[in-house]
Amino acid sequence: MSTRWIEETFHPHWRVALEASEVLHEVKTEHQHLVIFRNETWGTVLMLDGVCQLTTSDEFVYHEMMAHVPLMALEKPKNVLVVGGGDGGVLREVLKHDCVDKATMVEIDRTVIDTALEHYPEIPGAAFDDPRADVVIADGLEYVAKTEEKFDAIIVDSSEPIGPSAVLHTREFFADCKRALAKGGVLVTQNGLPFLFPDHLAGTTRVFASLFKRVAPYMCTQPCYFGGPFALNFATDDKSILNLEQKVLAKRVRKRGISDLKYWTPAVHSAAFALPAYAEAVVTEA
Ligand code: SAM
Repeated sequence: MSTRWIEETFHPHWRVALEASEVLHEVKTEHQHLVIFRNETWGTVLMLDGVCQLTTSDEFVYHEMMAHVPLMALEKPKNVLVVGGGDGGVLREVLKHDCVDKATMVEIDRTVIDTALEHYPEIPGAAFDDPRADVVIADGLEYVAKTEEKFDAIIVDSSEPIGPSAVLHTREFFADCKRALAKGGVLVTQNGLPFLFPDHLAGTTRVFASLFKRVAPYMCTQPCYFGGPFALNFATDDKSILNLEQKVLAKRVRKRGISDLKYWTPAVHSAAFALPAYAEAVVTEA
């Protein structure tokens, strides 16, 4: 078996290569370049357009923090929208909340779903077969602009702001998300690595602040995203759902019967909103 090194090419001055002991799938889809390969340390790796999206060894970090921070902040989220997220990891975590009646996932590229089911079925698990799940193949920007539904939480599990994902980082899209949120709802999006790409966090924070009463970026450590902690951003008009007491969060996770988490805890939830000074400066100067 021949070994190949696959480079991450998204940073202009820094490249990281991952060893591919076996390339499982490589295709230029209608929307992006997709490659899935095996790595002895990381497990199965998905790269889209030269950016590492996930590895089966550490995907739980990102997926738990994308799903549980907004959903645990809400008393009884029922209707949830995931934009992007074709690997099914966020959908899997959302569906752990027994109060959720419906979770819609809008993914532009069916190939990402099909290849997840073929090459890392443990990531979606049974999520795509859950009767509460509605999987829509469409552009998230167009879907959110047209939807008449109101969602308690909208979770934007997009790639970096290049290729088809670029529209999912625009003011136009976030304004449509705001319109599609139920009263007191939450919008969460990934916000990249602020040490390397401070403009990404600053730009989203500016847009969120112009649309919502409260903006609260938070962070997690995703080992496969090289370049420091990873930022997510959280926006809501309901100030009361921020700074929840840990005992409230602990009660919610117990009541919803969720007991298999590997990253999210009530303490991590609270601490994630404490930003290191360099990231805080990006946010306050935004
Ligand atoms: N969940 C991953 C992780 O663990 O890091 C990263 C996100 S990846 C799954 C982002 C997804 O957004 C891809 O499946 C991509 O096809 C999808 N996507 C990109 N642009 C989109 C758009 N305009 N509308 C809907 N989905 C989009």
